[in-house]
Amino acid sequence: MPLHTLYVDLNSFFASVEQQLRPELRGRPVGVLPVMADTTCCIAASIDAKRYGIRTGTPVWQARRLCRDIVFVQARPATYVEIHHRIVAAVESCTPVGEVLSIDEMACELMGREREETQAIALGKRIKRAIYDQVGDMLHSSVGIGPNRFLAKTASNMQKPDGLVVIRREDLPQRLYSLALRDLTGIGRATEARLNRLGIHTVEALCAASADTLRHAWNGIEGERYYARLRGDTLAAPPTRRSSIGHSHVLAPDLRDPVSAQAVLYRLLHKAATRLRHYGFCAGSLGLHLHYLDNPHDRHWTGQTRFAPHADTFRFNAAFAGLWQRRPPEPAPILKVGVTFTELVEAHQTTRDLFDPVDRHAGLNAALDRINRRYGPNTLYFGGAHKGRGAAPMRIAFSHVPELQVERDG
Ligand SMILES: [Mg+2]
Repeated sequence: MPLHTLYVDLNSFFASVEQQLRPELRGRPVGVLPVMADTTCCIAASIDAKRYGIRTGTPVWQARRLCRDIVFVQARPATYVEIHHRIVAAVESCTPVGEVLSIDEMACELMGREREETQAIALGKRIKRAIYDQVGDMLHSSVGIGPNRFLAKTASNMQKPDGLVVIRREDLPQRLYSLALRDLTGIGRATEARLNRLGIHTVEALCAASADTLRHAWNGIEGERYYARLRGDTLAAPPTRRSSIGHSHVLAPDLRDPVSAQAVLYRLLHKAATRLRHYGFCAGSLGLHLHYLDNPHDRHWTGQTRFAPHADTFRFNAAFAGLWQRRPPEPAPILKVGVTFTELVEAHQTTRDLFDPVDRHAGLNAALDRINRRYGPNTLYFGGAHKGRGAAPMRIAFSHVPELQVERDG
């Protein structure tokens, strides 16, 4: 049964970054504090500190009692965000990152042969190696692989540090029985209490409960979703049914002029084209989206162009240039830009246009993807994207990153 998701969770992220940057801290129990004060709590504990029972939320006084030799350091949020971006880039050098869930967690959709267990495990090992090589050898990660994101995340929690765990659909539900209810994502104190009131005290009982019971426990449709997730069902549309691939980016203040915006758009276009090819799709339509600053009426402009489906960056460049020409005069600085590929078809299903040699650039596109995957996303790029390089390093929603205050589960 195919696997669908690979989940990467960095171990003791903040503390590991400190040990990476400050070699004198390596191998020592380290507690990261929001401020250097005796009245505060650890927001992260190093792998070594965890062996003493110190974790996120342990008060300073208690940490000292648990381990006399603990070293406290003050958190450096900006540094952690910077390292976060480098880790995402390292993972992207192996496979596209589907979604960044927090500063130290991300999910990747497995595609094609990666869905076979041996290939998925090999990919997991490559990702760990890429993080060590490209970011630092103190940055251990736990990789979980499963039939859906929920189970992949659960697998990533089953072995720490430096884990690599696969949950196969055929091993369900027994594979989950060693966990406590609260070990499962989505079950907090309140949900646990409701489950207990319904007579559910173990994961085994949770797996045996009917969809109706779980609907009752979650007080709605989320309970049925949980029932499906526990069984390995994927609830999001599977990637073969995906209807669009796109990227958007909010421009920094110094990039809100048309020339800079265009450069960022080329970067987004090339990133989307790389993903398109990685997933084995051709696109039959390209959309360009511009949102303007100072807009009382949500001023924006969208242009779209259609063509015989292909996956060639060179011809996407030409299609994009045509769209860019068609845009109206800027009514205000450009705040946000985006591109979207739609009318996706699987590459092997496209009927090739006899007068349009689709494969003319195939070798070059493949080489471009290989080099950028191997050496990082900006190694080779098109001239037009030069100014946009680094402006949109990742589809990292900044709404995720401010979770800097608390490292969720180490
Ligand atoms: Mg973590």
